[in-house]
Amino acid sequence: MLMPRFRAILDTMPGYRPGKAVVSPDGRSYKLSSNESPYDPLPSVVEAIAAGAREIHRYPDPAAVRLVRALADRYDVPAEHIALGPGSVTVTQQLLEAVGEPGVEVVYAWRSFEAYPLLADLAGVTSVRVPLTGEEHDLEAMAEAITERTRLVLVCNPNNPTGTVVRRAQLTAFLDRVPADVLVVLDEAYREYVRDDDVPDGLDLYRERPNVAVLRTFSKAYGLAGLRVGYLIAHEEIASAVRKVTIPFAVNHIAQVAALASLAAESELLERVDRVVKERTRVREALLAQGWEVPPSEANFVWLRLGDRTAAFSEACAAEGVAVRPFHPEGVRISIGDPEANDAFIAAAEAFRRSL
Ligand SMILES: *Cc1c(COP(=O)(O)O)cnc(C)c1O
Repeated sequence: MLMPRFRAILDTMPGYRPGKAVVSPDGRSYKLSSNESPYDPLPSVVEAIAAGAREIHRYPDPAAVRLVRALADRYDVPAEHIALGPGSVTVTQQLLEAVGEPGVEVVYAWRSFEAYPLLADLAGVTSVRVPLTGEEHDLEAMAEAITERTRLVLVCNPNNPTGTVVRRAQLTAFLDRVPADVLVVLDEAYREYVRDDDVPDGLDLYRERPNVAVLRTFSKAYGLAGLRVGYLIAHEEIASAVRKVTIPFAVNHIAQVAALASLAAESELLERVDRVVKERTRVREALLAQGWEVPPSEANFVWLRLGDRTAAFSEACAAEGVAVRPFHPEGVRISIGDPEANDAFIAAAEAFRRSL
């Protein structure tokens, strides 16, 4: 029987599988699987959303002029250097579509953000994955992996899911080796959680180098994961290419007003980030005390390299009502939540350790 035909690459992609609800026998449920903010939205942000709701019979501003202006002022960059998208994952997709055609290569570390290979496949570009050394980017090997077919290099800093960072000296030495016609994208989704002073702010590097772009998001530190707003800051030719491949009206009106209100409430939101960072230290120290190896994390999660115990560990957590994120068969990423959720996770990890 004849059937509609699709791109062959789709056959290699998993379809959507709904996650199982994770609840303990006594009804407790903690979601530490998606690196979200554990805090409810700020009242000022909810108010802005409610006011915005009264305007949704109109199309959103396609250029998001007010939000772009606010970001340009916040980071002291020209408005033309900003490209918005519905989440920075979508901005990454736009970047890959802007560079992608058959034969083009994109270089990134592996393991890193799980969206990269899927987006690269969809854009029709070839992924060149450079293994981590230990839990960190191997920037030497990444520089060596660049060929005349390479158009884009992704550096996830801090890296999802390992939480490890690339430091200033390593990164500038790497950038010095990258040809000027290769775009280096610094994915800084977790920038606000970084406390190591040796980790460069990607925006300083972008200011010095025309082939460096920075990705940021409102999903994590700013607590707007459900509304989908992310952005790129890069020199005008790059930002303009990304804007060209945007779906019209991609960032909706509610998302625009909520992002604006979040920028206005930034100091309150960054206090919450501080609390998450303190909890990150507490969780890591508790795990170390139990005997686990935990790489230092500069993000809002920790990473346990569990190998073939990955599934058993995540199932043991689920039985205690704690949803974590397994990457079979490498390890488990656990988001930092509120103290109660973190305590539940620490207890589950301890019980698992004792059962070994
Ligand atoms: C969470 C995350 C993002 C942000 O995704 P949004 O689409 O903005 O929600 C981007 N990059 C990495 C590495 C992430 O972990």
